[in-house]
Amino acid sequence: RHLKKYFPIKSGLLQRTTGQIKAVDDINLKIMPGDTFGLVGESGSGKSTVGRTIVRLTDKTEGEVLFKGTDLYKVQGEDLRKLRPRIQMIFQDPYGSLNPRIRVGDAIGEALLDHGLAAKEEIRERVLEVLGACGLSSYHIDRYPHEFSGGQRQRIGIARALILNPELMIADEPVSALDVSIQAQIINLFRKLQETQGLTYLFISHDLSVVEHLCSQVGVMYLGGMVEMASRDELFLHPLHPYTKALLSAVPVPIPRLKRERIILKGDIPSPANPPSGCKFHTRCPFATAECREKIPEFRDAGGGHFVACHLVVQ
Ligand code: SF4
Ligand code: MG
Repeated sequence: RHLKKYFPIKSGLLQRTTGQIKAVDDINLKIMPGDTFGLVGESGSGKSTVGRTIVRLTDKTEGEVLFKGTDLYKVQGEDLRKLRPRIQMIFQDPYGSLNPRIRVGDAIGEALLDHGLAAKEEIRERVLEVLGACGLSSYHIDRYPHEFSGGQRQRIGIARALILNPELMIADEPVSALDVSIQAQIINLFRKLQETQGLTYLFISHDLSVVEHLCSQVGVMYLGGMVEMASRDELFLHPLHPYTKALLSAVPVPIPRLKRERIILKGDIPSPANPPSGCKFHTRCPFATAECREKIPEFRDAGGGHFVACHLVVQ
């Protein structure tokens, strides 16, 4: 609720704060249990920062992050320790977080030990269980990270998160580094795990075809703000925001059921340190008017839970 994350800009010898980057600037979103919420946008839109503030890899500046009614920024001590395993994060490059000298079975089991969730003698069995759920086997348990392909490493990353029995998984570009054929396998694994383990996902991606395939709800971010949010079908079949329309018309592999209205954007995404006035999208929007340059459009329900921030969309 009203989540904000500002980073100070420091410069000069004395590292004085000379400004701030509004990486996430007052966004609201709600993920229902069992949903896969896709958060999309170009790099620099703030979507990863949203994920990181939820798991507190970085602290929010303002707003609230509620998990089943509990404010994640207010829980402490034992309560926080119990809550942590329930929200897990998966990254684009699982290899970067795997120690090359630790066997993957131990790396996966480590999380259980760290959280005090299992006795030493139960761990191997639990590791085998999650390896199996992630499409790997006992053959892989005593091997080292370098012996695995990119797709297998992502399976290990998922297994490591899964062993803690999370309810919410935040996946930040989890398939972006993989070949397209491997992407499909990992996406199917995400799907299967959702059915068998009852998981809820926040799926962060710049790839709209992946999001269309996997997600039930979609939010589109631009320069730290949420510009549109709707169910997957609503958003893909009836996009309202010019930015969403432009993103959809630029999908390299066309999504068959999509009506494509070609919108070409001018220029690059502006610097978040110095965002445009009014509607932050006005410098690139083909429909911008004088009003757009001055007035910030409100993020409002255009009907049936389809939210949009654009002066052009009338109810
Ligand atoms: Fe374009 Fe104006 Fe809508 Fe912003 S508010 S998206 S500039 S039409
Ligand atoms: Mg990112």
